[in-house]
Amino acid sequence: MKGKTLETTKTIALVAHDHKKDELITWVKKHKDILSQHKLIATGTTGKLIENHLGVEVKRVMSGPLGGDQQLGAMIAEGEIDIVIFFWDPMEAQPHDSDVKAFLRLCVVWNTVMACDSSTADFIISSPFMGTNYQVEAPDYSNYLNRNVQK
Ligand code: PGA
Repeated sequence: MKGKTLETTKTIALVAHDHKKDELITWVKKHKDILSQHKLIATGTTGKLIENHLGVEVKRVMSGPLGGDQQLGAMIAEGEIDIVIFFWDPMEAQPHDSDVKAFLRLCVVWNTVMACDSSTADFIISSPFMGTNYQVEAPDYSNYLNRNVQK
């Protein structure tokens, strides 16, 4: 298996759909001390809210429906994001549903540490691996990459 080392200082992506933004802000406030030790990146509106409420620097990509989810997905594929906290809304259809699905899919493709609700996020942020290096085992896609596509 090919792997990737998550360093002590991790890059954490944060995204929340509109009806989940209050929940995410409550969560980030609760974990401000730990989060401020890591690099934060977020979709546009989520990132602005986190900066306003926490006073910590957040790198921002575009708003989710305008391409932000796809930007984060590309960063997952490039190995640039270590942890994803994505409070997506199970009760409301999103205009960018295909982007949301693509982002979630890529997180699983690359065995990404990911929480989609506050309790899982609590477990991740409390993990001893937050303060140490952690070796992610990336799935082996060599069979797929070397498949015979010509008859
Ligand atoms: P937003 O995007 O943070 O810009 O609202 C979130 C999303 O819908 O993916």
